Amino acid sequence: MAEIDACKCLIGGQWAEARTDRFSEVWNPSTGEVIARTPLCAEEDVHRAVQAAQKAFPAWRDTPASDRARVMFRFHDLLQRNSDEVARLVSREHGKTFAESQASVQRGVEMIEFACGLPSLLMGESIENIAPDVDCETIRHPLGVVAGITPSNFPAMVPLWMYPIAITCGNCFILKPSPRVPLSAIRIGELLMEAGLPDGVFSIVHGDKTCVDALLTHPDGKAISLVGSTPVARYIYQTGTANGKRVQAAGGAKNHMIVMPDAEIEPTVRGMLHSAFGCAGERCMAGSLAVPVGDAADELVERLCEQVGKLRVGRTDLPDAPVDMGPLITRPHLERVRGYIDTAEREGAQIVLDGRKVAVADSPEGFFVGPTVIDRVQPEMTVAREEIFGPVLPIVRVKTLDEAIALGERCQYANGAVIFTNSGPAARRFKRDFNAGMIGINVGVPAPMAWFPFTGWKGSFFGDLHIQAKEGMTFYTQQRMIMTRWFEPAQLDKHDPVWRPGKA
Ligand code: NAD
Repeated sequence: MAEIDACKCLIGGQWAEARTDRFSEVWNPSTGEVIARTPLCAEEDVHRAVQAAQKAFPAWRDTPASDRARVMFRFHDLLQRNSDEVARLVSREHGKTFAESQASVQRGVEMIEFACGLPSLLMGESIENIAPDVDCETIRHPLGVVAGITPSNFPAMVPLWMYPIAITCGNCFILKPSPRVPLSAIRIGELLMEAGLPDGVFSIVHGDKTCVDALLTHPDGKAISLVGSTPVARYIYQTGTANGKRVQAAGGAKNHMIVMPDAEIEPTVRGMLHSAFGCAGERCMAGSLAVPVGDAADELVERLCEQVGKLRVGRTDLPDAPVDMGPLITRPHLERVRGYIDTAEREGAQIVLDGRKVAVADSPEGFFVGPTVIDRVQPEMTVAREEIFGPVLPIVRVKTLDEAIALGERCQYANGAVIFTNSGPAARRFKRDFNAGMIGINVGVPAPMAWFPFTGWKGSFFGDLHIQAKEGMTFYTQQRMIMTRWFEPAQLDKHDPVWRPGKA
């Protein structure tokens, strides 16, 4: 087999090899072939990236916000023009269908659109005469060198949740993509540099825990954003904050989909199908537990299985592949997902549709599991409690909305939850009381678009300021308050105007 190329790092504006002899493999999950190698950077590589970013920071910070935004306008144009090429890369390295990859790139494009408008949000506040002859204002400063560590499931979109905002705010950003899917992040990085970003303002390093630890502990790094699984999010929050950094760390999820007996059955089934099986269930906002209430269950399970059974599973790396669902990201993950179905069976649940038996004729080595529906799951069973991160939908039948809400309360995560209903009072009760930071009402995947924050709670988020939108801008800036007083000759003999007795 010919030697497979290793991905490059971007440091100080140059694409260069990492100084490491450790590598991991990038797979085409549709075929099981290795398509690239990711260098696992050493501390030295991270140090060089931080140094280059630190060097670039003063000039970038002092670049007018409108000029920084203009780079984003050009980047937006370039990414849009090349979006199909990037989407094809996402499908190739991750396994999403082409349509899913296109949609994920579009969500990223919207993040750049949000960043283009940041100069308005960066404005501070001011008030004249807050005390006699004293004016007061706040202004926002970028933090300096900041880093983002991203997961394998959205190789193009999730990095774009972070760096358009961070960079337009005036920071220098170091991206550490998932070593399983570095290719689309690299291609988008090339487009960003083509948009005219100065060297060192954006860098890419690759790697595993060694690389992440070097970012978490580097004395010149000011903030860390992480999107990943909950154990990693917790670790990064604890280690980052212990090293004096600002941290926002989004973790895993178990998103409940409540179905009331009065729900519109057709759109409900469509919404649940898309939520549970879209992107092969590898989404932090995937509906990963169905909770039909009362009489809703029997008809729902029947109609759902009818539709799920029609999903076409197959290769996503070929142009115009007529498939609805692609493979999982890696073989170990495939085995893990199959293992969850085995566990459900062992614990006494009923496997109504079994994806373990799926075979894709033209690609026997691909990482495929078919859509799976598991009925009669009890709340204490493993598949009801843990994040499976695959096309597996367990169903817990409950008698009342109260019972559904109590089930949510026991969940270790609190990312998203949805209700399908025609009842205003039920929806209102749900949106006020359910244990989740993102709520959908007759919306299967309530993942916020760029203008709203990604507001996970509990085990789904560690930190104070969420990713995306205005909260993202707040995360990547620090405020300064300034009080100003000018001395006119007539006022020189007055006392301190701020430190004075109050007057009614
Ligand atoms: P992961 O936790 O394995 O990896 C995430 C990132 O952390 C990667 O860059 C990885 O290289 C790094 N990493 C992994 N182990 C590490 C360690 N021990 N120390 C330091 N860094 C480490 O996650 P994944 O499998 O790539 O992605 C799937 C997970 O991400 C799921 O749990 C999913 O729910 C979650 N996710 C959450 C959101 C959200 O917004 N809450 C969005 C997308 C994905």
